[in-house]
Amino acid sequence: MDHDTPHSRDFDASAALHVGRGEDFSDTFCEPLAMTSAYTFASARDAWEKFTGQQPGNVYSRFTNPTVRAFERRIASLEGAEDAAAFASGMGAIAGLCQALLSQGENIVCSRDVFGTTLSALRNYMGRFGVEVRLVELTDLDAWQRNIDSRTRLVLLESPSNPVLKIADIGEISRIAHAKGALLAVDNTMLTPVFQSPHCLGADMVVHSAGKYIDGQGRALAGVVTGSAALISELRGVLRTLGISCSPFNAWLLLKSLETLEVRMQRVASSALELAQWLREQALVEAVYYSGLTEHPQHALACRQQRGHGGLLSFRMSGGQAAAWQWIDALQLVARCTNIGDTRSMVTHPATTTHCRLTWEERQSAGIPDGLVRLSVGLERLDDLRCDLARAFAEVEHGRRHSSLSVLYRGLAS
Ligand SMILES: *Cc1c(COP(=O)(O)O)cnc(C)c1O
Repeated sequence: MDHDTPHSRDFDASAALHVGRGEDFSDTFCEPLAMTSAYTFASARDAWEKFTGQQPGNVYSRFTNPTVRAFERRIASLEGAEDAAAFASGMGAIAGLCQALLSQGENIVCSRDVFGTTLSALRNYMGRFGVEVRLVELTDLDAWQRNIDSRTRLVLLESPSNPVLKIADIGEISRIAHAKGALLAVDNTMLTPVFQSPHCLGADMVVHSAGKYIDGQGRALAGVVTGSAALISELRGVLRTLGISCSPFNAWLLLKSLETLEVRMQRVASSALELAQWLREQALVEAVYYSGLTEHPQHALACRQQRGHGGLLSFRMSGGQAAAWQWIDALQLVARCTNIGDTRSMVTHPATTTHCRLTWEERQSAGIPDGLVRLSVGLERLDDLRCDLARAFAEVEHGRRHSSLSVLYRGLAS
């Protein structure tokens, strides 16, 4: 190569590939983002030792990656668990949990009020592999007792439930599960480790859809399971072979998000309580569902096992679906969006969106009437939120007065 005259220099393809590869990131204060599929080995022996697990170390990002590992360690620490395994999404985590633990001939006992896709995952896929799925009412301890038996490997529940915030007695259900030799997994998406520590109440595993409150800004999908080192190593086996892995980029975003998790959770919970108390004074509201309200049937249990009540609430409007839709359409600040756990407030009509696959009868028995509206409270100024909701109520009331007047006029004209 002739290096004397710059313009005659050959393009160095090898340099483009290799220069800068060994840069040292060890003094960066923020976690570096390891966007890499593979890793280099110091020697052939080093590769052999890491592949066979004789030495710890990264082999391939499908199952270990330093950025993902940093996220796993941080969330494990926050949940008070030995270890964690991160997945591509919350559903990936639930699928991984089932794949790792369940075998043909066993059963899984699950609360009926879980996230809709969790229910579809169990019903549509687990059954095909010879695993029986038993659904029970979250609040009915006798039902848990009746359904968990010696063939139960896994018990799965979500508390508080979405959208009507029923509370499961996690301690009691863990005692029932453990007495029969079953493992308990709790989906802690709704409260996060800021407000609830299921491991302390007896849960063997804690599951998160990390794209909700943990990310908190609606930008990254991921899931994570925490538990003992032995259980997490079984889950890592699933990651290694089935590949439902968390992207390093998403893990990097989530590491950043965890730094502000507590501040965000405290804020949405205090706004949610204020709004819940304000909503129950509204003429068009028949009932408010929020475990922070003293009239919530399980308020005492919630206060015992939680450190806060979270940012999600729902309420039932008089006038059914028509009124609920009218109210939702009148909102200007709150976004019409079926997600939860975002910094921005969101509203959903569960009966026609998240729970539309249920039959009307199933929705009634799950306590999801047509007039139900769900709010995921964000970080906006509380006054602005209250004004937006109040204006929407005023519009529905105005519409109602208008239509009753037109009925009156039609009556007069005839
Ligand atoms: C969203 C959600 C899930 C599924 O998580 P994804 O990341 O969307 O796959 C599971 N459980 C709960 C409680 C959820 O809200």
